[in-house]
Amino acid sequence: MRTYVYDFADGDKDMKDLLGGKGANLAEMTRLGLPVPPGFTVTTEACRSYLAQGVAPAELEEEMAVHLRRIEKTMNRAFGDPGDPLLLSVRSGGRFSMPGMMETVLDIGLTDATVAGLAAFGGERFAWDCYRRLISMYGSTVEGIADSAFENALAALRRERGVACDPELSAADLRELVGTYKEIFRAHTGTGFPQDPAEQLAGTVLAVFRSWNTERARLYRRAEHIPDDLGTAVNVMAMVYGNRGPGSGTGVAFTRDPATGARGVYGDYLPDAQGEDVVAGIRDTLPLQELARLDRRCFDELVRAMDVLERRYRDLCDIEFTIEGGRLWMLQTRVGKRTAAAAFVIAAQLVDEGVIDLDEALRRVDGAQLGRLMFPRFDLSGSPERIASGVPASPGAASGRAVFDSRRAAEATGPVILVRRETNPDDLPGMLAARGILTSRGGKTSHAAVVARGMGRTCVCGAGDLEVDPEGRLFRAGSVTVREGDMISVDGTTGTVYLGELPVAPSPVVRHLEGDPENAPVDGLDAGSGPLVSAVGRLLAHADTLRRLGVQANADTPEDAARARRFGAAGIGLCRTEHMFLGPRRALVERLILAQGEQEVGAVLEELLPLQRADFIGVLAAMDGLPVTIRLIDPPLHEFLPPLEELLGAETARERALLAAVRRMHESNPMLGLRGVRLGLAIPGLFAMQVRAIGEAAAIRVRDGGTPRPEIMIPLVGDVRELALVRAESERVLAGIDDAPPIPIGTMIEVPRAALTAGDIAGQAEFFSFGTNDLTQMTWGFSRDDVEASFLPQYLRLGVFETSPFETIDRRGIGRLIELAVKEGRGARPGLRIGVCGEHGGDPDSVWFFHDADLDYVSCSPYRVPVARLEAGRAAL
Ligand code: ADP
Ligand code: MG
Ligand code: MG
Repeated sequence: MRTYVYDFADGDKDMKDLLGGKGANLAEMTRLGLPVPPGFTVTTEACRSYLAQGVAPAELEEEMAVHLRRIEKTMNRAFGDPGDPLLLSVRSGGRFSMPGMMETVLDIGLTDATVAGLAAFGGERFAWDCYRRLISMYGSTVEGIADSAFENALAALRRERGVACDPELSAADLRELVGTYKEIFRAHTGTGFPQDPAEQLAGTVLAVFRSWNTERARLYRRAEHIPDDLGTAVNVMAMVYGNRGPGSGTGVAFTRDPATGARGVYGDYLPDAQGEDVVAGIRDTLPLQELARLDRRCFDELVRAMDVLERRYRDLCDIEFTIEGGRLWMLQTRVGKRTAAAAFVIAAQLVDEGVIDLDEALRRVDGAQLGRLMFPRFDLSGSPERIASGVPASPGAASGRAVFDSRRAAEATGPVILVRRETNPDDLPGMLAARGILTSRGGKTSHAAVVARGMGRTCVCGAGDLEVDPEGRLFRAGSVTVREGDMISVDGTTGTVYLGELPVAPSPVVRHLEGDPENAPVDGLDAGSGPLVSAVGRLLAHADTLRRLGVQANADTPEDAARARRFGAAGIGLCRTEHMFLGPRRALVERLILAQGEQEVGAVLEELLPLQRADFIGVLAAMDGLPVTIRLIDPPLHEFLPPLEELLGAETARERALLAAVRRMHESNPMLGLRGVRLGLAIPGLFAMQVRAIGEAAAIRVRDGGTPRPEIMIPLVGDVRELALVRAESERVLAGIDDAPPIPIGTMIEVPRAALTAGDIAGQAEFFSFGTNDLTQMTWGFSRDDVEASFLPQYLRLGVFETSPFETIDRRGIGRLIELAVKEGRGARPGLRIGVCGEHGGDPDSVWFFHDADLDYVSCSPYRVPVARLEAGRAAL
């Protein structure tokens, strides 16, 4: 029989789909014999049913009542009992954790009738403190009253009493506050705060169901690629009271440092407080080690529990706990979020500890994390002005204009740093839009920190020297005032805030991967990077042993080629030649365009030849022994001419001729115009010159004792006859060059028609390389240069796209073209070598697709090479 409610004792950690992450892990802790308050989980299925039908399943009420009686029995207290009331917490928790969504209501069951009973148990002050918390949490979660309404009332009372923090408020103060909160509640809802505990419980459970579909929850899921149809589970459990005086408190703990991965006991502790105080970052917390001094017994018990959990989950766990009158209670655990650096360090540590093997370690890191570790850091050699420091909550180096409001941050153009006292879930749009986040309050577990780490945003929080004035749109730090729009820089690795925009230096991981012989630390930034670079190196090496996909690089210069090689590229999959026509050579291209007749064209090409040859010699030397796939000129020629506006006042004859040429060559859709192979066929001699330059460069390299392995790649082919013409001409040219090695001739597959006729094309091509950028724009029929700024954001919002198809390959559409071309290409020419050279070659999700599609290699920008190596290894696991 289907049940909608599971007791904690009846679930386990593998039931996340049904019980959500929080519920499954509460069940697991209960099984492990850890001290978890009794409770039950309402399943995600009940939530889905409620969201679909608009009413909860009929059985739910009765099932909850049965399980509630079990809690009452265990706690020896009754829900709604005025003498000694049982109170409950109701907490959301879906399959994937969505930290900071904060759909939690604590202290359910308090009413005017039961508050006295609670006072008899824990004191007047405590009871009124719980009651005011309940009204505000219930008010905001169930009735949608703005938190600030309650916070302002609390702040006003603090001011009136002249106290700095809540614990200084007396019982009478809090009782008065409850009255005020009730008025706020009534003003907003038109009814009094519900005095029936059962109504409070049922109302909260349904509100948690509904919270699945709030705007901010949707936004978060979209950013994290979490499906929208899972629903959330709801956990109902007996309250334990961290706010019951000095022998009580609440905290969070990590079994390893979530920022660096270092072993040890990390976390924050807040005496005499209820859980949400820690997460909200409203009061300053103590480091967890302090608990050893305050309550040794509980501290030891906590450390033992952490050990049990680490062994069970075989990973970093984070934990929420509460101490009530010297007794420890575990309220939550999960495999903890961590920075990219910590992910690598912990995976390698666990291998060394014999807990997991290298395969498992590789599963636990990913290319996106590696990519983040390769971000540059600030170069501090100019001694920039430090204006504040705070908690290094999420690493990275971000410069941007200070903005003090999330809406304005979301609407701003250009990089911004969102500056707030503290953040809450309403700040999500601004946090998503910002390069970096800076707060003046809260620790490593504050909302800002947790969310920023999850999103990979740079974050410094709890910078106490900052006086943030959101209304005035400024902050003060000592004598410095920063106004909205001023440039600041935040270093999430060190926690330092600087005035102005800072130059950046390469990350230690990059310098390690590049094998920088002088891997000297930069101004202390690299301190402690040893374990990180070694972990990255080991996991990459392991990925290399597993992967089937080759990884090459897109590189046009000897410098890029050399860098790519140091990053582990096994050749160049795309060497573009158009960059070689820029700079001073532009004049030659202009002459080429203006040339009259074959002879003049020939003369210009003669001049270009030695220049191109020298380019190729450089690149071939840098990639000696490895394949270098050189693509003949691709973009429309007029891209090399000055823009029309510049020529309008044409005076000289040359300028007038250029103007005429620009007008003549104008195309309405240049990306669908005279470019690629079409240009090569339209300007006789252009491709031949490039082919000659390649052949002669290779011959020179051979004579110099090198092992050049150039390949010639023809862009924008749509029909085999185009390729046949170019091939015949190229072979004629190459045949006349002594000492040139055999040079394979292949084609890009980027016009949809080429994919559809791949079997024919393979007859003339020794290799294929998917140009997925053009293939995507031509198959979709929208311009990659324009969509970003036009309707793409809307499409992402509407859910037409989950990610931009230019970022992650669209498996259903473009993917099918690729699969077809692979099948028919290899059918016509067995063993045909096939790669990909669009941006997608370095995108983790796309790499998995290319692995599945059985390509031979991906080619991507040099900095993505390690990412592609890692993901290709992971795809092969
Ligand atoms: P989030 O997912 O945002 O952390 P939680 O559901 O974990 O929200 O709850 C918010 C806070 O309330 C946490 O600090 C948690 O430890 C605390 N809390 C939840 N349930 C209880 C309980 N039964 N007794 C005491 N504190 C609780
Ligand atoms: Mg929690
Ligand atoms: Mg292209």
